[in-house]
Amino acid sequence: MARYTGAVCRLCRRHGEKLMLKGDKCVTNCVFDKRPLPPGMRSTRRRKVSDRGVQLREKQRARNIYGLLERQFRGYYEEAVHHPGVTGDNLLRILESRLDNVVYRLGWGDSRNQARQVVRHGHITMNGRKTNIPSARVKEGDIIAWSDRGQRSEYFPMVKERVSGKSIVSWLSMDMTAMTGRVLTEVNPAEAETLFDPAVIVEYYSR
Ligand code: SF4
Repeated sequence: MARYTGAVCRLCRRHGEKLMLKGDKCVTNCVFDKRPLPPGMRSTRRRKVSDRGVQLREKQRARNIYGLLERQFRGYYEEAVHHPGVTGDNLLRILESRLDNVVYRLGWGDSRNQARQVVRHGHITMNGRKTNIPSARVKEGDIIAWSDRGQRSEYFPMVKERVSGKSIVSWLSMDMTAMTGRVLTEVNPAEAETLFDPAVIVEYYSR
């Protein structure tokens, strides 16, 4: 599946806030902190936006945070509409249950982008099977682990050190010794800590 491959810091500048798309670098060396202007603009003035514009921005922000292209994001919305319950919560559950997001939530990547690379490079298994598809979805009871190749990678010891003592969301558990994760329950949308309001995204698509 295609993804945005441009400079991610431009996205923060466009949205006018830090989206934390580069993990630790966002704390130590942030472009937005140095230049909090929209891309291509010299002034700090931002145009006034209509209600529709606000909805569009909210949707774009969510899409950029999860690193998705419009077609895929819209597909998730369509799926969320057809699930019972609140559409915004359903959308969050779908986004959060992607394998790359789960790897990120376990702390095995310091950004969703890095977590996606970890999956793509065949470093992760799901229920004992190597899975290199970032959009694969987890469900309750699934076990996420490092493949033999992943454990041999240079990256593995660094991750092991980084996750030591870190807390994770309540719907996941992690065995820090074996470096395996388990999906304990359905995703809890309240723990998604989103920088966007899913209800506004629902308004955008339902017009
Ligand atoms: Fe955004 Fe992180 Fe780049 Fe800062 S370093 S502009 S938070 S992606």
